[in-house]
Amino acid sequence: RRIAEADSVAVIGLGRFGSSLALELMAGGTEVLGIDVDEDLVQALNGQLTQVVRADSTKEEALRQLAIDEFDRVVVAIGDDISASILTCSVLLSLKIPVIWAKVGDDRHGLILEQLGVNHVIYPEKDMGRKVAHLVRGAAQDYVEIERGYVIVKASPPARLCGIPLGTTGLRKEFGVTVAAYKHPGAEWTNADADTVLSPDDTILIVGPTRKAEGFAQLR
Ligand code: ADP
Repeated sequence: RRIAEADSVAVIGLGRFGSSLALELMAGGTEVLGIDVDEDLVQALNGQLTQVVRADSTKEEALRQLAIDEFDRVVVAIGDDISASILTCSVLLSLKIPVIWAKVGDDRHGLILEQLGVNHVIYPEKDMGRKVAHLVRGAAQDYVEIERGYVIVKASPPARLCGIPLGTTGLRKEFGVTVAAYKHPGAEWTNADADTVLSPDDTILIVGPTRKAEGFAQLR
């Protein structure tokens, strides 16, 4: 059965990263073709993805037989075997796949894929290490870097911000950050506005430049 329709993705490499990505796509309603050379992994995911096949993705003929060229989006989740990753990306580029995402383990591997013309090169360990550094530092409960230097921080509100409408706290002017949303314990996330009054047991989302947002989250 061919599944290469509008909302479908092929995932090559079903290790820890690839299988978790494939299952999350499935949970969101995307059809997924999973490919791995390892028969045990293929068996383990059988029935959980739209289609799972055993194939060596470095072989152009094998990918052609799977109609990979009909997919608009392909993820290459081969991190450890750098040569298999490079060869696979090269085949996908020859087949003119419009959008290729590839995970890499280190900068050298990433540079080669970028030089080849892979659209999205992702560095999971490096990115997660940087993120966890900000969590280890203390005040943030979660931390999402939108781009280098600009973040969303999940934290408790500083005491001086509680009990008065946000619009009267002067926080944008004084601290250079915005409180985008807040959550009372047990309630849903709500967008914050000038009339929002926070209480100390709320959780807030602070948006702004990294240093300012982190500095603000550390205020008590
Ligand atoms: P992770 O850290 O996410 O587990 P790995 O790099 O260890 O990532 O896993 C990569 C997966 O890619 C493995 O399951 C491996 O069998 C698969 N793989 C490696 N080379 C090929 C290939 N040529 N064709 C298809 N799958 C491959």
